[in-house]
Amino acid sequence: MYCSKCGTELPDGANFCWQCGLPQRGQDSSPSSESGYECCILEAEVGIVTGHVRAKVENAVIAERHFNPWTDRSTSARNQLAAELASRGWQPVTHDEYGCVVMMRRHKSSAP
Ligand SMILES: [Zn+2]
Repeated sequence: MYCSKCGTELPDGANFCWQCGLPQRGQDSSPSSESGYECCILEAEVGIVTGHVRAKVENAVIAERHFNPWTDRSTSARNQLAAELASRGWQPVTHDEYGCVVMMRRHKSSAP
């Protein structure tokens, strides 16, 4: 599916567009507690010289992306990470006040 506002390609079932924040007709917004879904949290950590965003399932890091905190925004690094995860079957579930993806989920049957 594609965002009707900005045209970003989104995984089926996405609840919102991570580029422009437009709500999408996703399935439902209840995150992970539903059985059959695994959930990952996207966290940004900014240090003095390096920053990184990590996607964690429970405490395991499943994807990571580094950025330069002087030149890049953690929000765009997070959205790049979200796009990478989307190509692996993850759907964005919730976002923060900047429209940046903070939680994604994937049905266990679609895991590789
Ligand atoms: Zn959009």
